Amino acid sequence: MLHGPPISVSCQCGTRRDLKYGEAWECGCGRRWDTTQIPREQYARIRGIQLRFRALPIGLGLAVACAAAFFVATGNAFSLFILMPCALIGWMTLIRPAHRRRYRAAIADLPEWTLRADRSPRDGCP
Ligand SMILES: [Zn+2]
Repeated sequence: MLHGPPISVSCQCGTRRDLKYGEAWECGCGRRWDTTQIPREQYARIRGIQLRFRALPIGLGLAVACAAAFFVATGNAFSLFILMPCALIGWMTLIRPAHRRRYRAAIADLPEWTLRADRSPRDGCP
């Protein structure tokens, strides 16, 4: 099972729903939507992009935490009062907006899928 971004399904009747990959949903109107119709490799690519972009904030957070630990260990705890606001402001004003733009651009290249509605769960499986 892949855990990645949600897949939003819009039913012909106008209902929208976010599903996980591999999940099936039966709409109130009786149509059935199966996300396993999406090729696994394609979904894996999206997930890979998401993970890659998530790695940067985590990496930066760790770097700041290491720097903080270093300052504390060297008896320089006061520097934290300079480091932390600087890191936070730099993240909010410079890194995060650029990061989001790049993420959106990467996601925009990806295909959109049209799922077929099917009522019988067993029919859609290859
Ligand atoms: Zn529906």
